[in-house]
Amino acid sequence: MEMLKQRIRELGVVLSDEVLKLDAILNHAVDPVLTTEMGREFARLFREEKVTKIMTIESSGIPIAFAAAQELGVPLVFARRKKPLNTDAETYSERVPSFTKGFVTDIMVSKEFLSEHDRVLLIDDLIANGAAARGLIRIIRRSGAALVGVGIGVEKSFQAGGRTIRESGVRVESLVRISSLAGGQVHFE
Ligand code: 5GP
Repeated sequence: MEMLKQRIRELGVVLSDEVLKLDAILNHAVDPVLTTEMGREFARLFREEKVTKIMTIESSGIPIAFAAAQELGVPLVFARRKKPLNTDAETYSERVPSFTKGFVTDIMVSKEFLSEHDRVLLIDDLIANGAAARGLIRIIRRSGAALVGVGIGVEKSFQAGGRTIRESGVRVESLVRISSLAGGQVHFE
């Protein structure tokens, strides 16, 4: 997606060979025009899949997942990182290591928002090693819902997340793929 590549070139900050700061685009500030275009692109890619629900993980996945949900005319449910007020019996929860924060967090989804009749499209802002996405995939599978695919804004393809999920048989579509951050530069595939 050319527009997203341009914004990454303009506003992305390479922090190391592994980490690209995208606060100005995805993780702190939100550009409604870019976000809406990303939602349109996800909707175009998955329109034939009869999606009934978009799912993401709070917080940075929410704007682009909302844009996709709006385009497809379906609800959005986001997994929470804090314990909700209801009891464990009413909640799916999975433990995931956080790539950027360096510790483990629990993600949870209330059972009332996910059923075996759903056809779920998982959307997230960025994939690195894929732990966050795999955690949410486990929750979707446990609910009995069908996972129609995964839509990712930015895939760091030099890390294994996107590849391992594809190898498990899940359709993964990334709007841009970054092959390297070597030398302080963003190299797109
Ligand atoms: P994963 O579970 O795929 O290893 O990491 C996923 C999450 O970590 C993403 O949703 C994102 O919030 C964060 N993350 C991992 N690597 C980066 C990075 O290079 N840049 C940014 N902005 N976020 C990252």
